[in-house]
Amino acid sequence: MSEDTLKIEISFPVKVELTQDDMRQLDAITGEICDRYEVAHPGRVMWAAGVGSKILYMPMTRDEELAGKHMEFDDAVFAIDCSEREDFKWPCAKCEFTQGDHQDCILDPPAGNCEFEPKSQEPRPIQERGLVPMHVYLSAVDGRQKMRAALREARAKVKELEGLLSGKPAEAIAN
Ligand SMILES: [Zn+2]
Repeated sequence: MSEDTLKIEISFPVKVELTQDDMRQLDAITGEICDRYEVAHPGRVMWAAGVGSKILYMPMTRDEELAGKHMEFDDAVFAIDCSEREDFKWPCAKCEFTQGDHQDCILDPPAGNCEFEPKSQEPRPIQERGLVPMHVYLSAVDGRQKMRAALREARAKVKELEGLLSGKPAEAIAN
């Protein structure tokens, strides 16, 4: 598969409601894309570093902060910003040091002038990265989808019951 996408954009002609569940699902999709990137790029990590209203302005210096400039957000845009970098704990195929001990990551590296090469045979350190074997991962994704479907059904049922209790048809409660 080719890696061509840098950004996903969804625009609405008018303001719409974005629920907590929508946000969770968008965040989950982002996490899945990041996980897939990590599988394809041994020695790198990618994660959603910022989630929420789009940041329009962020003071970068102390002077700006002292001048009373604060962060500015666009609350009409829900944004997820991902970061990517070396996985400092990833072992090197050539020396016994981790990537974080190499010259690209720190000054005076314990690995000397060894050019880091990700150890490819090494299984991902699951306990550190929170990654599970692909088949478990896929069944978990499937499980989440089933759970969401069950949740939707349960919500519909609750609405129906609320309707019965208040003596109104469910449609009247839903609207
Ligand atoms: Zn090395």
